[in-house]
Amino acid sequence: MSVSTIVIVGAGQAGASAILELRANKYEGKIILVGDENHLPYERPPLSKDVILKPSETKIEILSAEKLADLGVEVITGNGVEQINAEQHNIVLKDGTVVAYDKLLLATGGAARRLPELDALGKHVYTLRNLEDSQALVPVLQPGKRIILVGGGVIGLELASSARYKECQVTVLEQGPMVMGRSSPSILSEFLLAQHRARGIDVRLSTKLQKAELRGEEVVITLDSGEALVADAVIYGIGIVPNAQLAVAAGLDVDCAVKVNENCQTSNPDIYAAGDVATQLREDGQYRRIETWENANNQAGVFARHVMGVEQPKANPAWFWTDQLDINFQFVGDMAAAEWHVRGEMDVAQGSAASFVLFGVTDGVIVAGITVNSAKDMRHLKKMVAKAAAFEVEKHLDLGLDLRKAA
Ligand code: FAD
Ligand code: NDP
Repeated sequence: MSVSTIVIVGAGQAGASAILELRANKYEGKIILVGDENHLPYERPPLSKDVILKPSETKIEILSAEKLADLGVEVITGNGVEQINAEQHNIVLKDGTVVAYDKLLLATGGAARRLPELDALGKHVYTLRNLEDSQALVPVLQPGKRIILVGGGVIGLELASSARYKECQVTVLEQGPMVMGRSSPSILSEFLLAQHRARGIDVRLSTKLQKAELRGEEVVITLDSGEALVADAVIYGIGIVPNAQLAVAAGLDVDCAVKVNENCQTSNPDIYAAGDVATQLREDGQYRRIETWENANNQAGVFARHVMGVEQPKANPAWFWTDQLDINFQFVGDMAAAEWHVRGEMDVAQGSAASFVLFGVTDGVIVAGITVNSAKDMRHLKKMVAKAAAFEVEKHLDLGLDLRKAA
């Protein structure tokens, strides 16, 4: 079947990237981008940082209206997709419009996982996923305000950092025994924890909420220990739920997220999924979902190449970053590496001047790397992980060795 109309559902990172990848791979047919937000595609990483700290200077747009017009894209915003009729090859929008497709990409991302006991308070409680959520935090994060962050993952820690810059009093409540426990090895998690505490952020681990109530304009959070904390606002980031409802209703294979093969194809070969909404079959036979900016872009590329019959390049090891407390952290490869080796000085007292590299090693092979304020080394670490280089303590930890030469 010839492909003359591709419809992309979700005007976010993967959706925008898919447009660029389709055109880069010489697709000349029609592209229709449908988004439920009232915005053209924008970047989410600045939402927890610069959109709050420097709102007037921060540009987040990925594709402007002019660029989309140049690329020949028909854009529909503020009108979400409500239904996929897979057999008829069309979708139905909220306003009833029916749009036909030859190939469909689901790039609907995820939504903040809800905590009903906090939502029930009705005010002074926030989550962060989109631009409006971020803008709503600007007046909340004011000097002296008491802010409780529930969840010590990336959202919790990045917002703790931003709130501290705004001179708020910040408490982070994490139910698990470590911060960033889902994405960081314990050696780095301990460093992060110490950095946050050194900046005056009160991080409580292995701590659960027992009760939340309003007392006038204050929120009172009672912990499982019985201690009561008082805040002006509570922000929670306890993970996301993939926006897979459309796929479920269309009868696609879904396991919390939309299951896709190595080509990002769902159980219906004319429907693909990419980004936070997709869980992909990996070389080890397991399905895994990766919630990162790079993964959204990569999977959009896989989709576009598959539609165009272009050979897929070898996949690179997964990479992501986080910026907290003026420190740039970058991660590549398997964070479950058996052992970690520090190159340089891992010294919390250096604050934002700290700079070092971590090698993650399993069975003598470099399977992961982390740079802390050392972004220039990430390129070399990526190469070492991609080729499964053998780890040599004396060589790799020698600060006299240029890592470019070891890669
Ligand atoms: P999204 O970018 O969320 O786009 C999905 C779009 O689909 C949204 O606009 C949504 O409204 C829309 N949609 C949903 N349902 C429908 C429907 N039925 N019809 C039409 N449209 C629909 N990653 C990093 O690697 N590094 C970072 O520093 C980083 N920082 C982040 C900070 C924040 C605050 C957040 C929220 C995320 C951050 N991420 C970061 C993660 C990264 O932004 C996501 O992994 C990425 O945006 C996923 O892209 P996506 O296209 O799958 O989803
Ligand atoms: P994460 O999954 O990173 O972290 C959620 C954290 O909240 C976990 O540590 C989890 O602990 C904890 N948690 C879960 N339930 C509770 C609870 N009831 N009380 C206290 N803690 C709880 O999700 P985030 O919400 O931080 O991030 C959401 C999304 O935003 C993700 O897709 C993420 O990738 C993206 N993002 C990425 C950034 C980056 O890559 N730099 C920056 C900001 C956001 P446990 O594991 O024990 O359940």
